Amino acid sequence: MNINQNFNKLQSNYLFTEIVNRGKAYQQAHPDTKLLKLGVGDVTLPLPAPIINAMHNAVEDLAHVETFHGYGLEEGNLFLRTAIIQNDYKPLGIQIDTDEVFISDGAGSDLGNTSELFDVNNHVAVLDPVYPAYVDTNVMAGRSGIWSNGRWSDIEYLPCTAENAFVPELPKTQADIIYLCFPNNPTGTTLTRQQLQLWVDYAIEHKSIIIFDSAYEIFIEEDDVPHSIYELPGAKQCAIEIRSYSKTAGFTSVRCGYTVVPKATGLNGMWYRRQCTKFNGASYISQRGAEATYSDVGRAGIMKNICYYKQNAELIRTGLQSIGYQVYGGVNAPYIWMKVPNDTDSWTFFDLLLDRCQVLCTPGVGFGMSGQGYVRFSAFGSRSDTQEAIQRIRRL
Ligand SMILES: *Cc1c(COP(=O)(O)O)cnc(C)c1O
Repeated sequence: MNINQNFNKLQSNYLFTEIVNRGKAYQQAHPDTKLLKLGVGDVTLPLPAPIINAMHNAVEDLAHVETFHGYGLEEGNLFLRTAIIQNDYKPLGIQIDTDEVFISDGAGSDLGNTSELFDVNNHVAVLDPVYPAYVDTNVMAGRSGIWSNGRWSDIEYLPCTAENAFVPELPKTQADIIYLCFPNNPTGTTLTRQQLQLWVDYAIEHKSIIIFDSAYEIFIEEDDVPHSIYELPGAKQCAIEIRSYSKTAGFTSVRCGYTVVPKATGLNGMWYRRQCTKFNGASYISQRGAEATYSDVGRAGIMKNICYYKQNAELIRTGLQSIGYQVYGGVNAPYIWMKVPNDTDSWTFFDLLLDRCQVLCTPGVGFGMSGQGYVRFSAFGSRSDTQEAIQRIRRL
């Protein structure tokens, strides 16, 4: 037996472990201080009652022979796929067929699994800074080349920095598989319709596929920001859209999401085949919970939580701005991306904030070289922690 040697190439992502360790070490040395954690990218509010009720009912269904459910469809139950089309696409004027929607156990799995559809010799392009999963899954698949100077030789990195207003330039070499994430994690920035159209046009011209991660769609509030890549002409030929209920509805532990693979990509049948062989469908209980996010009361419940996080984002964004920091994002996303002043690097500022304010943020360099000199603040904390953190930073 020979193992897949690509796994040996993976660079350990120490980022979140390192943050936790530094936080713990500080807490041990200063047991009386309260650390305020604005680093985590995980939801904290409990699920709205209508969604909890829907999942209770789903559990109850399983308790009786008349309503019991065994295996569901590999592509997901029709009640949820129909609700997705009716609520997430139809209002945008987008026509998606039910057999183009595949329910998943969250975006994480499909962000990695979709790369199975493509030849190992395809060229990958990612934004920098980048959500690490896009890169690591392609390392595992053997598409990365070698690691040198903090980057993979065969992956094209597209810098997103204050200099280009976080609007990446189109790839310089042929990019076959392009990962886009908007609203973006970690920068919290977005593209306008016009800016995203350039990517769709590029993909059609170069016969590329765009894997469009739209995990933060629900945070969009500006008019010219597309809610789906399929709003743009041509996108159905060249884009797979991946969504999740994790940040939308607080489902990070429940696990449910979906992937749209339009027939026009030529990949729909392959993906269906793949799912039938390797995935036996998402949990019935999770799917009933996800369905409930589309009812009037369910929607109101999740929007209340989203508003809470958005108000936190506003407090962080305007708070840091009023202190004099350069900040980005935080309007259509729960993340605020801050330029560290005086050319200080990300980790130095992280340590300063920990030591002087007892506030934890996320060092931008952990998301890639172009994140150096930035830190990320998350709006998923409690209101009081968020307010207190800004007050402490103000006194810095
Ligand atoms: C949180 C997040 C997801 C969601 O992942 P799940 O597996 O659905 O929980 C996807 N993409 C990005 C960029 C995220 O930050």
